[in-house]
Amino acid sequence: MERKYIFVTGGVVSSLGKGISTSSIGALLRARGYQVTAVKIDPYINVDAGTMRPYEHGEVFVTGDGAETDLDIGTYERFLDINLGRGNNITTGQVYQTVIEKERRGKYLSETVQVIPHVTDEIKRRIRKAGQEANAELILVEVGGTVGDIESLPFLEAIRQMRFEEGGDNTLYLHVTLLPYLGTSEEFKTKPTQHSVATLRGVGIQPDGIILRSKSPVPEDAKRKISLFTNVEARNVFNSYDADFVYAVPEILEQQGMGRFIERRLELERVTPELRAWQEAVRVLRQPDQEAIIGIVGKYVAMPDAYLSLMEALKHAGIANHAEVKLEWIDAENLAEGHVSGLNELDGILVPGGFGIRGIEGKVIAARHAREQKIPYLGICLGMQVAVIEYARNIAGLDGANSTEFDPYTPFPVIDLMPEQLEVEDLGGTMRLGNWPMQISPGSLLKRLYQSAPKNGNMVQERHRHRYEVNPDYVDALKTAGLVISGITPGMKGRGAGLVEAIELPDHPFYLGLQSHPEFSSRLMRPSAPFRGFIQAALLRKQRQAERGQTVADDLDVPAPGQGKF
Ligand code: GLN
Repeated sequence: MERKYIFVTGGVVSSLGKGISTSSIGALLRARGYQVTAVKIDPYINVDAGTMRPYEHGEVFVTGDGAETDLDIGTYERFLDINLGRGNNITTGQVYQTVIEKERRGKYLSETVQVIPHVTDEIKRRIRKAGQEANAELILVEVGGTVGDIESLPFLEAIRQMRFEEGGDNTLYLHVTLLPYLGTSEEFKTKPTQHSVATLRGVGIQPDGIILRSKSPVPEDAKRKISLFTNVEARNVFNSYDADFVYAVPEILEQQGMGRFIERRLELERVTPELRAWQEAVRVLRQPDQEAIIGIVGKYVAMPDAYLSLMEALKHAGIANHAEVKLEWIDAENLAEGHVSGLNELDGILVPGGFGIRGIEGKVIAARHAREQKIPYLGICLGMQVAVIEYARNIAGLDGANSTEFDPYTPFPVIDLMPEQLEVEDLGGTMRLGNWPMQISPGSLLKRLYQSAPKNGNMVQERHRHRYEVNPDYVDALKTAGLVISGITPGMKGRGAGLVEAIELPDHPFYLGLQSHPEFSSRLMRPSAPFRGFIQAALLRKQRQAERGQTVADDLDVPAPGQGKF
C-alpha cells in the first residue's frame, strides 16, 4: 500500500496549538473514512516524557502499551478516536539511543556515524514504522518546537528527504504560525510568518499550506500578503483563529477547504466528511441544559495542562449528560481541617493522580469531607490511595495509616510498594504502566457504570501509571470496616493478581476510587464510564438540593410577592 505523509511544522513561537491543528486535520481525514495515524516528534533529549515535570510540560500521557508520552498523543487519540502507542512519540533521546547502540554493536561496520545519514535514517525509519504498524493510509507527523531551533534540524532534514523518497503526491508540508495582532495599529502582522517560512525554505522545505493562528478571524488581504511572500497559493493559507472550544476547530478548518486541499494535493478521492458528532458536541458545549461544579483537589492547580486528559474526560462526560462541567481548582495545600466549608458548594469532588507528599493531607481531608457529607467523589490513582488512607485512619481505626510514599515509618502502611516494584531501580522502569485488566464485582456501582461500556464479561481494561498499591495485608481489615473492593486485578497468581483496582462505599450516592486512569481513554463519542457516572451523580445531587431548597422555600411562611404589607 502506498502511504501518504502530512508533515506539520511550527513557526514564530511555541505553544501555538500545533497539536490541535494536527489533530483537527486528523479528525477531518477520519471523518472521510481514512485509516490515519499520527506521530509526534519531540526534539528534546529525554527518551520519553515520563521523567519531565508536569507543571512545565503538561501531563504525561500514557498509552495502552504503557508508553509515557507527550500530551499531544492524548489529543491525537481523542480527535482521531484511535489508540496510539510507544512508536507514535519520537524523541531525540530515542533516536540517538538506537544509533549509539547500533554503533557499539558494530552495525555500522567501520563507517563514520553522522547526523546525515545515520541519524536522519533512523528518524525516517521510525516515522515509516509508525505508519506500517497502524497500517495507515495517511500519516500525520508533527515536528515539535519552532522552525529555527537547533534541536529540530535533524528532524526537518529527515522530513525534507522524505518528499524526495516518497514523491510529491505522497507528501504534504503544512506550516503553522502565529499571526500577532497589534492593537495600536489595529492590524495583523505578517512579518514573523514571512521570516519563519523563509527559515523553513532555508532548510529546503517549501510549505504547501500555511495555518495562521490568530486571536480573531484574519482578513483576506493578510492571507494574500502571506501568499505573495511565501509562494503558497492564497487558497492554501488557512486561519485557525481562537475558537470557544477546541472541538470546533475541525469544522473551522473544513469550512475553509482544508479537507479539499489535502485531497487535491495528495490526489485523494473527493469525499464528504461525516462531522455530525463534532457538530453535536459543539452544540451541547455552547448551549448546555444544566451545569455541575466539580472541585479538583490537586497540586498543580496553576497549570491546568498538567491535568489535560482529566479535563477532557470531564468535558466528554458533561456532553453525554447535556451539561457544562465547571471546574473549581482547589490547591490541596490550602485545604486544612476546619476550612472545608467551600467544598459544600461543589456538586462533586475529584482527587486526581499525583506523586509526592505535597498537599497529601489536604487530599485526605477532601476525601473525608466527600464521604461524610455524601458529596459525589471520584478518586483517580492517588485519589483512590488517599481515600483508602482516610478510611483506614478514621473508620478502620488504623491510626496514622499512610502510604510509604509519604511516610516510610507509618505503623499501618495501607499503601505500599509491591515486591516486584521494589526490585526495579531504573527511574521510569518501576511503574505499573499501560493497560491492565480489572475484574469487577457483581452488584457494585462500578459494575453498573461499566454496564454499557465495551467489556469482556466482568473484565475491563484501563490504563495505569503508578508505583504504589493498596497493601494486600490490610485488605481484610478495610473490608471488615465496610470498604467495598469492587475491582481487582484478575488472575490466580503471578504478576499483580488480586491487587485492588477499585474501592467504593455502599451507603454513599457516589464514592469511587480507581487505581487506574480512565481519563486517558475517554473519547468525545465514547466518554469514560466512571466519569460519565460521576457527572450524572453530581447533577443529581444538584437537582435534589434544588428540590429540597424549593420545598424549604415553599414551607416558609412568607407572603407571596404583592400580597405583603409593604
Ligand atoms: N504516587 C502514587 C503511586 O505512585 C500515585 C500515582 C498516580 O496517581 N498516578 O502509586
